[in-house]
Amino acid sequence: MATAFAANQAHDAHAKAGHAERPERLERVLEVVSADAQLQEALRAVDVATADLELPALVHSERYIQTIVDQVESGGGMLDADTYTTADSVQVGLETLAVQRALADAVLSGRATNSFAATRPPGHHATPRQPMGFCLFSNVAIIAAWMRHQHGVERIAIVDFDVHHGNGTQDVFYHDPDTLFLSLHQHPLYPGTGGVKETGSGAGTGTTINVPLPARAGDAAYRYAFEQVVAPALEAFEPEVLLVSAGYDAHTDDPLAQMQLSAEGFALLCYRLRDIADRACSERLIAALEGGYDADALAASVQASLHVLTGIGAPPAVDESAPDATTKQQIDDVARLYQLD
Ligand SMILES: [Zn+2]
Repeated sequence: MATAFAANQAHDAHAKAGHAERPERLERVLEVVSADAQLQEALRAVDVATADLELPALVHSERYIQTIVDQVESGGGMLDADTYTTADSVQVGLETLAVQRALADAVLSGRATNSFAATRPPGHHATPRQPMGFCLFSNVAIIAAWMRHQHGVERIAIVDFDVHHGNGTQDVFYHDPDTLFLSLHQHPLYPGTGGVKETGSGAGTGTTINVPLPARAGDAAYRYAFEQVVAPALEAFEPEVLLVSAGYDAHTDDPLAQMQLSAEGFALLCYRLRDIADRACSERLIAALEGGYDADALAASVQASLHVLTGIGAPPAVDESAPDATTKQQIDDVARLYQLD
């Protein structure tokens, strides 16, 4: 097993004083990864070629890209109430895409079995026409579109465990029967979408799966949702590759949400995803960082995830406790809706 790993190096040029989506997030992750001798031994670096604006144009409208370029060329500003740019944000956004593309290429060409992109800003809220939620480009959706365009990959599954609903990724593939998008998220919470009834549209009906979870659901709820919904849905879909929007803001210490996941809980999610990828799509799992706003919790959770992807240490311990009855019912309802039970 080889795990490819890369980070965007110039990310600190995208920063705004007092904003939660800040360079310290990634700096702390890289400090922890650098200090971990086992990871340094196991992780494989990749060469990253530069990306140009043709890459985000696979998903975003010309007008969308021009709006960002214009604001950045004027020195930066706000794209919406939450989403800032600086004079260097296009460059940072493209470097994020370049890193994720290089890692996807390593996996698809067989040089690595799985990969993790330590990149920022996140991407999963950016819709084809609207930047939002700290996101400039819809990173994972763009990489999925690129894999289809460049590598001829047809069936792609995307699992998004960021605590916020991945509305942007969902929008990109809402009508697409060949891309399964599955999001687990706190609900209600920003951006407000991600209800059970959002199942896709037209030919894509049934290939969008939302698992909204109540605040304070913890490791047991996620474990149960994986058993009842995530694993059976992915196995039935038979993807050629599994993309993961790996956001860590469901951690109990995160300031932007009220979930109660632990770093070990994230390790278990990654273990389960790796296990599914082993069986469903020849181990091909491509993970990219999304949210996670407590830098220490983020770094510990990414480290635990990387241990799982590289196969370091024993499998994470399984918390066998059951979720509370209401949460269990909600998860069972999703399984029933998609006839996974
Ligand atoms: Zn988030």
